[in-house]
Amino acid sequence: MSDVVERRVGGLTVRIDRLLCVGFGDCIDDAPEAFELDEDGVAAFRDGADAAEPERLVRACDACPVDALTVLDEDGRQLAP
Ligand code: SF4
Repeated sequence: MSDVVERRVGGLTVRIDRLLCVGFGDCIDDAPEAFELDEDGVAAFRDGADAAEPERLVRACDACPVDALTVLDEDGRQLAP
């Protein structure tokens, strides 16, 4: 798997930098429908991530203590962190 994984969710682009993630799971507390820890203990997208509410995704990405999650809107503006 590449170090940065990206998924389009609604009009948002969400990126996980897997090298930065330290696996504490704050993002999963905020949006368990979107994120999970994989077998390496690193954040990954869940299968149902595409259905996650945008507000919850932004909140989850803001919660990451090491800024491993980034959210961009349709125009490429960074919404979080
Ligand atoms: S909050 Fe950040 S560091 Fe914690 S599991 Fe999620 S992506 Fe990784």
